Amino acid sequence: MKSTGLCHTDIFMSTGDQNGGPKILGHEGTGIVLKIGSKVTNVSVGDPVILSFTYCDKCPPCKSGVPGYCYEFPQGNLVNNDLEDTFVLDNQKIEAKFFGQSSFSKVGVVNEASVIGVKDLNVDPETLKRFGPLGCGFLTGAGAIYNAGEAKKGESCVIYGLGGVGFAGMMAAKIAGCNPIIGVDINQNKLDLAKKFGATHTILGGDDDEVHKKIVEITGYGADLSLECIGGSRFINNAINNASHCGKIVYVGLGSFTDVLSLPTFPFMMGGKKLIGCTEGNAIPREFIPKMIEWHSKGQFPIEELQKVYKVEDFAQALADMKAGTVVKPILVY
Ligand SMILES: [Zn+2]
Ligand SMILES: [Zn+2]
Repeated sequence: MKSTGLCHTDIFMSTGDQNGGPKILGHEGTGIVLKIGSKVTNVSVGDPVILSFTYCDKCPPCKSGVPGYCYEFPQGNLVNNDLEDTFVLDNQKIEAKFFGQSSFSKVGVVNEASVIGVKDLNVDPETLKRFGPLGCGFLTGAGAIYNAGEAKKGESCVIYGLGGVGFAGMMAAKIAGCNPIIGVDINQNKLDLAKKFGATHTILGGDDDEVHKKIVEITGYGADLSLECIGGSRFINNAINNASHCGKIVYVGLGSFTDVLSLPTFPFMMGGKKLIGCTEGNAIPREFIPKMIEWHSKGQFPIEELQKVYKVEDFAQALADMKAGTVVKPILVY
């Protein structure tokens, strides 16, 4: 591994019911291929790579170009029951295939599906280190807007929750020509940052009625396209309530596993609204990551502005800064 992004999913999976047994987290890795298995065909030893989630490549969603809905996604990415002898602690095998990669380890055994070779894309080694989140957070946000939300020129777009995912969605909305683009967050620093990523307006969140009023004021009828990144039924309901007729609401936020959404059925139907759950940006990493790299090379996807680079030894500081919201996307460099 050369670097890894730090993502809220790492925190989520290390706490509470999700914790389970000992495991190595980390799922936004970049690196250089040291060895390959006998059946690996997509990369060679020495190739620079970006790592993404893993999938079986056999089931219907995988076959139809949306591997984020792979039937083996939970086993492959979140809870890895297929323990190997790669990492052992106190005679106990450790889960070390988080999102097919476990990038919080300097060396890892990575599933082929998780490996995106970038040898032919002219990525210099220093820039490569910044590209780990293209495999997860940025792919999730940009793909949610671009693929799942099918963003169109002139559509009004609201992004709820401005972290790495939300800002990536915002940049994709700008690239697609959405206007206006409204960022909503409870953190004023994030709102100040939002202008750099395409926001035409920002709204300080907290009071749901106020947010609703302001969105209608700015858009006229509500949001044509919404991206909900905060997580939880309250926020999804707000996004539905703030959407225009025929509006599309894409949600990617992680609420609790037991959270239940209760939908206002009549206005939802009469408004022809579309609620879309979305995982991993409806993207095929091998196609969508090169697209984001192209946006980046044209200056349309300035991810460095969201990042702060830390030495891997300063992991605790990086984690604290992300939790405090002072850094959107920490990058740990090995
Ligand atoms: Zn599959
Ligand atoms: Zn992630």
